[in-house]
Amino acid sequence: MSALDLSAHTPMMAQYLGIKAEFPDTLVFYRMGDFYELFFADAEKAASLLDITLTRRGQSAGQPVVMAGVPFHSVETYLARLIKLGESVALCEQVGDVATAKGPVERKVVRVVTPGTLTDTELLPDKSEAILLAVHQAPKNRCGLAWLSVTQGVVHLAECAQDELADWVDRISPSELLASAGMTPTFEQKLRSLKTTGRGSWALALRPDFQFDAGLGQRKLLEQLQAASLAAWSADALADAHAAAAALLTYAEHTQGRSLPHVQRVQVQRSDALIDLPASTRRNLELTQTLRGEDSPTLFSLLDTCMTGMGSRLLKSWLLSPPRDRQAAVDRLQAQAVLRGESGAGAWSGLREQLKGASDVERITARTALRQVRPRELVALRHALARASSLSTQLQALQPEPGTLLAGMARWLTPPTHCAELLQMALLEEPSALVRDGGVIADGLDAELDELRNIQTNCDAFLLDLETREKERTGIANLRVQFNKVHGFYIEVTQGQLDKVPDDYRRRQTLKNAERFITPELKTFEDKALSAQERALAREKWLYEGLLDQLQPFVPALTALAQAMASLDVLCALTERSLTLNWCAPEFTKEPCIEIRQGRHPVVEARLAEMSGASFIANDTVLGNKQRLQIITGPNMGGKSTYMRQVALIVLLASIGSHVPASRCRLGPIDAIHTRIGAADDLANAQSTFMLEMTEAAQILHSATPHSLVLMDEIGRGTSTFDGLALASGIATHLHNKTQAFALFATHYFELTEFPATHTAAVNMHVSAAESGASIVFLHELQPGPASKSYGVQVARLAGMPAAVLNHARHALSALEAGATESRQQVDLFAAPPEAEAAGPSPIEAALAQINPDALSPREALDALYALQRLL
Ligand code: ADP
Repeated sequence: MSALDLSAHTPMMAQYLGIKAEFPDTLVFYRMGDFYELFFADAEKAASLLDITLTRRGQSAGQPVVMAGVPFHSVETYLARLIKLGESVALCEQVGDVATAKGPVERKVVRVVTPGTLTDTELLPDKSEAILLAVHQAPKNRCGLAWLSVTQGVVHLAECAQDELADWVDRISPSELLASAGMTPTFEQKLRSLKTTGRGSWALALRPDFQFDAGLGQRKLLEQLQAASLAAWSADALADAHAAAAALLTYAEHTQGRSLPHVQRVQVQRSDALIDLPASTRRNLELTQTLRGEDSPTLFSLLDTCMTGMGSRLLKSWLLSPPRDRQAAVDRLQAQAVLRGESGAGAWSGLREQLKGASDVERITARTALRQVRPRELVALRHALARASSLSTQLQALQPEPGTLLAGMARWLTPPTHCAELLQMALLEEPSALVRDGGVIADGLDAELDELRNIQTNCDAFLLDLETREKERTGIANLRVQFNKVHGFYIEVTQGQLDKVPDDYRRRQTLKNAERFITPELKTFEDKALSAQERALAREKWLYEGLLDQLQPFVPALTALAQAMASLDVLCALTERSLTLNWCAPEFTKEPCIEIRQGRHPVVEARLAEMSGASFIANDTVLGNKQRLQIITGPNMGGKSTYMRQVALIVLLASIGSHVPASRCRLGPIDAIHTRIGAADDLANAQSTFMLEMTEAAQILHSATPHSLVLMDEIGRGTSTFDGLALASGIATHLHNKTQAFALFATHYFELTEFPATHTAAVNMHVSAAESGASIVFLHELQPGPASKSYGVQVARLAGMPAAVLNHARHALSALEAGATESRQQVDLFAAPPEAEAAGPSPIEAALAQINPDALSPREALDALYALQRLL
């Protein structure tokens, strides 16, 4: 709509359309009194998304005005729903004075709410961040990345090859992704395909190309950091990331309607600083989501006993970005040793008491910096500061060594001087939810506000007092001082007493039996009283703004305090977990090895205990230079996948500085955990299962190093037997000879058990099972050597396969086995089993035939019935 067209519209519609033109891709919520209204296409979209009524009212430029509205007091619920659907909303408020405005009151977009820039506590989930990510398409197939959570104070920067983009985006898991409107169609297609295949669902926002400018980005970053060079953050030579940062910060500021003064840190993420956890690994290991996409049971849901949302969020980020360098893990473990105390009955539980229910200092601080914070959040902040102070004292009492994590936390948890006092002085203990309702600022802070409030509360007393005085002065016994909405305050005197009325009474109104008067004193009071409420509200608003000004200098210290509180929360939760679940502290070595004694799968163990009370069978793992590859065989359901995943989870837990579910664990350097595990959801993807299997395997073979851990579960399964076997042995050989990674290789190709005979660093292992009659018992014990049988038919029997199919399969199996040993003759898999065998009685029929009902006592009959049922 060009500016020229607007003249044909009503002034209000012209104003609306002018604003809407600036936000073409965003739903504009246009404030009209107690409603936010949406117009035209926005109204139609909102009506269908939110299920609200679409109306037509009046006309503008000859067209009916289509509109839909939501009440302003419940706007948050509607926002939450729209954001969840990936929409963005511009909130356009009345900023001018309604009383004095000629034409429509002045309006302005004060905030744009988008999926990646949420700050409202009501709209954000407690335990995860809303992340905004900007991706810059750079020359030479490179990418610059910059991302942040508006409620945190850090901009993250990274650069990567375009091939690696999928993994980065998956790990960062943004809610909203910014890209240039000028990117190439191929790149755009690539980005959009990530959206459909990736784990998270993010909204894509296209931004003008000029905003992806490296120079601008560098300037903006320097401005945030208030520094002259980015060298101190090792962030100076990252032009591609700077270009992304330019778009990122511009957009974040645009949505908040202001700068982001709390963002004062930059963190460069280099892919070689972190243990590589490709998307498939995160998915297969069910770190934060189960394969079915649920939140629990996962490693995160098991670990997360944090007391605060800040803690849970930090724990999740530790889990998804384990550092390669061991120092952070060593520091965290050392801190936990102190928190545990010698007998385990250490300081951690007292600290958790203090952390319990502490408010989200991190988000409140960000909202303070953005001047969006609500009065009750500031009161919550004051309470949290008291807790922080007590946490700091408790930590100091542990006398942590200088330079350690706990010593640092004790320091950062000390609340900045005067911040709590300022809040205490400025705010009522239980303020109203919104500043505009008044009842927020404490009494005694501001003389003018106190006086205005006094006028309101002392109104009745003043009127009574005036009445008594006037009665005395005039001698009119039935004189009354009163108020009504139309005429304001007045003194009422009945007809018979009018001669006693003094000169300074001015007539206000004549009634049948009485006259109403006003005096100069009452008039002054009236002026004051009537405007007092309005003035008090305005004064409170002004004082609140002043309070926000005064709080700004505390923002950096509060941000640090929030981080310390979150870290302490995570360390206490990890300590609690290690004690409750009986985990041990890992040891790190320089020599390449993964040695685990009595290792368990933490999530399966917890689930077993919860569901059946059964105990988990612990297993050892010894991988080192001499033994790098385990060929694992054994029946389905025997525990192969569980074992392999448990090794990966233990390695990951150790790397983030957690204790591990084992009795001992020694771990050398690790640079990546790769997994190739067939997942049920592969089918949902466009690629065929086999193609995907091979693509993932190829990626692993290309990127794994001698310091990587590789899990291969049933590789080759997706194709014909000989193809699959040939590929599996090829892959095993490559892993053994070239890649030399630590590899756990579970296979159903029994032929592969011959592999270790010719490959010195490979070894056969199997999960044990015992046959019990026609059935099978899984022992879940990992033992040296190849499995003796695959037990497939027994497993199928357990699964309730019809007896006829089992008979057929048994027959075909023996034919195959005979065929394999004797000659390569063609085996007819579809031949029916011999008559006698096919017709043979099933175990239950055999048992039934044995029973002589006449010879049984009632008790024996009942037992027999139970025994038969067990055979089902
Ligand atoms: P596979 O990969 O050999 O088919 P899984 O690893 O999927 O077998 O294990 C099947 C089931 O056996 C698991 O769901 C778990 O309940 C149980 N299980 C596996 N390993 C153990 C163990 N070490 N201790 C107890 N139960 C186990």
